[in-house]
Amino acid sequence: MTARRRRSRRSVALRTQREAVEVLHQRLVSLYGEPRPQRSLPALEELVLTILSQNTNDTNRDRAWERLRTRFPDWDAVARAPVHEVEEALKVGGLHRVKARRIQETLVAVRRQHGAYTLEHLHQVDLAAARRELSSIKGLGAKSVNCILLFSLGRPAFPVDTHVFRVLQRIGVHRTKNLTRANLELQEAVGGEICYPFHMNVIRHGRDICHARRPECWRCGIVDLCGYPDKQQDQAGVTRPITLSPRPARSAP
Ligand code: SF4
Repeated sequence: MTARRRRSRRSVALRTQREAVEVLHQRLVSLYGEPRPQRSLPALEELVLTILSQNTNDTNRDRAWERLRTRFPDWDAVARAPVHEVEEALKVGGLHRVKARRIQETLVAVRRQHGAYTLEHLHQVDLAAARRELSSIKGLGAKSVNCILLFSLGRPAFPVDTHVFRVLQRIGVHRTKNLTRANLELQEAVGGEICYPFHMNVIRHGRDICHARRPECWRCGIVDLCGYPDKQQDQAGVTRPITLSPRPARSAP
């Protein structure tokens, strides 16, 4: 196939994917409402929180964050502390050894590069430059970069976590094989102002209905949009989608 034909196919596929996202977004808004951003931490704080989120749940992440912030007066103290003291503070969050080193390395690198413990300059640069700089930080994957861009910097980025990946794959919005690729590829299909509400609503749908093990397809409000071949039925063998009344979305991951 020529390069031109490949480009043309890709642009048709992208248009189809964008249309699918738009339809799904509208349906999720009618089910769950349109969440508005609630939390906006400075970018460096969001970055540290993102490191603490890796391979743990929200409760343990928040506990580790609280311990870190109460044990050390500022980021300079965290960066200069003996690593075992930082590890001790993070013990509640899992993977404390890896995370302690990663946080200290990140803080040192940020200070070296910008002369202070801040990433607020990222508000002033364009999206591609902000993405490039965050991606250059060791240990920060594509999903974490998208989280910082969206939650802290308010940029049109779309983080794909395990819930988002699973739900959108089952529905047929993407056929990507892994999380990193999905975090790169879906940026073209999901953009603009829908990034935040779409992200939050897909997560909510994944947590509440489209579970990893046994999705509750019999009460799924978007069953007619879904291409998942192994749809589950309730014990009576019946599929009856329900309409949920909107309630506030959970806080951002
Ligand atoms: S129909 Fe089932 S698999 Fe598809 S989105 Fe709904 S719960 Fe998930």
